[in-house]
Amino acid sequence: MGEAFTHIVRGDVMERIYFQDESKYRGSADALFIPETKEELIAYVKEKSIQKEAITIQGALTGITGSGVPVKGLALKTEKLNRIYIQEDEKGWYAYAEAGVTGEKLEQMASRETKDACFFPVLPTEKTATLGGIAASGAKGIHTRCYGGFKDYVEQCQVCTAKGDIIEVTWDMPEFGEIFGSEGMLVLFLSFKIRLIKKPQHIWGILFRFTDDRTAVRFAERIEERQHITAVEYMDKHTIRLIETYKKNMSAISSLPDIGEQIQVLIYVETAGESEEEAEEEAAGLLEACIEAGGDPEDAWAMCTEEEVERLRAYRHAASECVNMEVGKVNGQYPEVCKLSLDTTRSLTDRETLLDEYQSRLDKSNIPHCIFGHFGEGGPYVNLMAKDSAQYKEGTRIMEEWVHKAYEDSAEVFGEHGVGKLKKEMFQRNAPEVIVKEAVRRKQKWDPEGILNPGNMV
Ligand SMILES: Cc1cc2nc3c(=O)[nH]c(=O)nc-3n(C[C@H](O)[C@H](O)[C@H](O)COP(=O)(O)OP(=O)(O)OC[C@H]3O[C@@H](n4cnc5c(N)ncnc54)[C@H](O)[C@@H]3O)c2cc1C
Repeated sequence: MGEAFTHIVRGDVMERIYFQDESKYRGSADALFIPETKEELIAYVKEKSIQKEAITIQGALTGITGSGVPVKGLALKTEKLNRIYIQEDEKGWYAYAEAGVTGEKLEQMASRETKDACFFPVLPTEKTATLGGIAASGAKGIHTRCYGGFKDYVEQCQVCTAKGDIIEVTWDMPEFGEIFGSEGMLVLFLSFKIRLIKKPQHIWGILFRFTDDRTAVRFAERIEERQHITAVEYMDKHTIRLIETYKKNMSAISSLPDIGEQIQVLIYVETAGESEEEAEEEAAGLLEACIEAGGDPEDAWAMCTEEEVERLRAYRHAASECVNMEVGKVNGQYPEVCKLSLDTTRSLTDRETLLDEYQSRLDKSNIPHCIFGHFGEGGPYVNLMAKDSAQYKEGTRIMEEWVHKAYEDSAEVFGEHGVGKLKKEMFQRNAPEVIVKEAVRRKQKWDPEGILNPGNMV
């Protein structure tokens, strides 16, 4: 039988583990159930649905909007639904994975079973996230600009409805588009059939270091459309300084040299090629583009072994980790202070103007902040680390101004991390009526009794 914890008391360490995600948003539930099998999970949902008990679904709780944090009723965690196998058929290699499988496990299994010939290209940078959580939050990774999103690789999935019925959904059914990115409000993902693709044989990771923002942005814009580029990530000076203060205690990156006091911006670029010549040619082209933009290629760190590239990816990943740690420190003293991150695109505003707008507004506010993230996918994103409740309130107001502008730009808003509970009011106040109405329509269609994930989005 699965494990059931009932009545986790307020302040108990269990509450911090199970009723808080990486946004530091806190909640509570009457009980937590951790099923060991799909059958147990389905029986539980059926029973609780008849009793009209609310259920909040949880993956690894690495989410950053409070969407997996329960606010009432029961919590159901999928961590033990972690079976996976990899198989080849006439169309290629596939992973058959339960929803609680982590990105890391999928990556390892794909590599082992296909003898490193195939991989899954679009995991978010946090590899402990589960596939169910990735599917439900519409998470993106550094390679999304090149390879697309998670759902582009899912051919079929099995879901459990709010009533406990099982449905097989294939990529060509209209339901498919509705359930991905639905923050666990419509269905519970049980398992996926995921297409793996051929792994590029030669990957380069290059960290370009710039002494000013304008040159960095010019460089990033110049290289965006190049054919072999798979990732372009931006990190501002605050991000760099923050990572550098934590670096010596982070084993994945502690061996990297100091970034250097004079460096104000980092642009991390990845390229993929089928032959060594192709990859080297692309790397040389990037160094050339750096000179053309006014940068110094001598300041770039180029890495080409898998282990070295992983280290540079870990440096970018450390940006999110360090922000979360900073927010965690303040949250201990001010429980209402959570992570504030803005994941909007602004298609009508050019990147340089947008970054200027973010910087000048934040410099006036005194709220500690970092700007980093995907350059090609409409980002980078703003992360605020309020020091107390007053700054948190001010930060929320600033975020809302930008959310409003992004909707005016007809941009994609909350496109990567979702709305959850933290941004629910912002979403409802600013999203065009048609978007809010569609979210409500879907909820009523799939879960009219409001069993799944109460408190998210609508
Ligand atoms: C250091 C760090 C870096 C990160 N980097 C990125 C990044 O680069 N890009 C990005 O997009 N995100 C990023 N995230 C956010 C997070 O990793 C993703 O949102 C991830 O998809 C959450 O997965 P999870 O398993 O932790 O889900 P949870 O946090 O547990 O849940 C997230 C949502 O999914 C729902 N859910 C979970 N499992 C299921 C299921 N089986 N069926 C239905 N609904 C389900 C929950 O109810 C909730 O609404 C990062 C987080 C951290 C801590």
